[in-house]
Amino acid sequence: MSWGAKAMTLQSLGKDDSPSHTHAAVPLGEGVTPKERHVRIWFDTEFIEDGKTIDLISIGLIREDGRTYYAESAECALSKACPWVEANVFPHLTGERKNKGRIAQDIRDFAGDDPEFWAWFGSYDWVSLCQLYGRMIDLPPGWPMFVRDLRQLADGTPWRAREQRTTKHHALNDAVWTMEAHMDFERHYLVEPVPSWAR
Ligand SMILES: [Mg+2]
Repeated sequence: MSWGAKAMTLQSLGKDDSPSHTHAAVPLGEGVTPKERHVRIWFDTEFIEDGKTIDLISIGLIREDGRTYYAESAECALSKACPWVEANVFPHLTGERKNKGRIAQDIRDFAGDDPEFWAWFGSYDWVSLCQLYGRMIDLPPGWPMFVRDLRQLADGTPWRAREQRTTKHHALNDAVWTMEAHMDFERHYLVEPVPSWAR
């Protein structure tokens, strides 16, 4: 669909770009409705990859209610990092290292059983996240087997992402930036909701 055709189905909201979203806490566990369990999560990872494998260095996530999670893998072979990773990622590591099994459980608790994952150029990040659980079919029940990508959503539109003012290549900073950029996008373009019968 051309952008002109897309524009026919979008409504420009014309609001400012300030990150005015608020983060009302949504409790997890008993008494939480299915609608409340469904949560959008933006995430980012840093990793070492050699064309064959993707080795998770760090992961950061933010839920739409503002809760965040950050961890670094104690199992990453940091000695295999390329100079770019050494220069751009290593300086921002905090040493909050955990084994992958612990990170997997933490994120499962954090995301619940009906998450919607968003990333920015997210293909490698998604694999890094999924492999915390093993194979694709080992993902926690209820989780999507795909990632939503803001970069893909915005492709072909005239919208341009805001500049990131926090330190880049820190996974949590990058996840928060992705959420804020997504909020910008939604303030500019309100996509007509898809009726539930058509999903
Ligand atoms: Mg990053």
